[in-house]
Amino acid sequence: MAKLRVAGIIPESVVDGPGFRYTAFTQGCRHNCKGCHNPQTHDFSGGYDVDTDDLLAEMLEDPLIRGMTFSGGDPFEQPAPLADLARKAHEAGKDVMVYTGYTYEQLLARAQEDPATDALLRQTDILIDGPFILERRNVELRFRGSDNQRVIDVPQSLSRGEVVTFEFE
Ligand code: SF4
Repeated sequence: MAKLRVAGIIPESVVDGPGFRYTAFTQGCRHNCKGCHNPQTHDFSGGYDVDTDDLLAEMLEDPLIRGMTFSGGDPFEQPAPLADLARKAHEAGKDVMVYTGYTYEQLLARAQEDPATDALLRQTDILIDGPFILERRNVELRFRGSDNQRVIDVPQSLSRGEVVTFEFE
């Protein structure tokens, strides 16, 4: 059990990654991207607390759910409870997709100093990285807002030591 600050939960989403997904919108973001669609998630004192085990239990009640998505806000502002939740989701056979305003390289650097960041990265299957850049907005892109953002296969990237990206079909 771990406490997580969220802006909201969508128990069955089809717009936050492949398949049906249980999506947690975390509360708190420092990036202030121009044109952000979720400005109510920025304030670290906003939102409400949940118990990550309750989220897991709710997700597991729905057999259609393929995986969990952490969106925001920026999930990497709360890496410890999310790493624990992602590990349990994996143990239950679900995949984990994470959105962040940080770049993969910034997270790798932070992971050297911060075990929780390292743990969440290692529990992430798909990372959508980087800030939303309004001038690079592209509505054709699946599951991301601007073309600077990458769809990263994190396990492959960590094992090869280079960024491995792919496109959703
Ligand atoms: S990282 Fe996401 S939530 Fe944060 S300001 Fe940028 S678009 Fe908004």
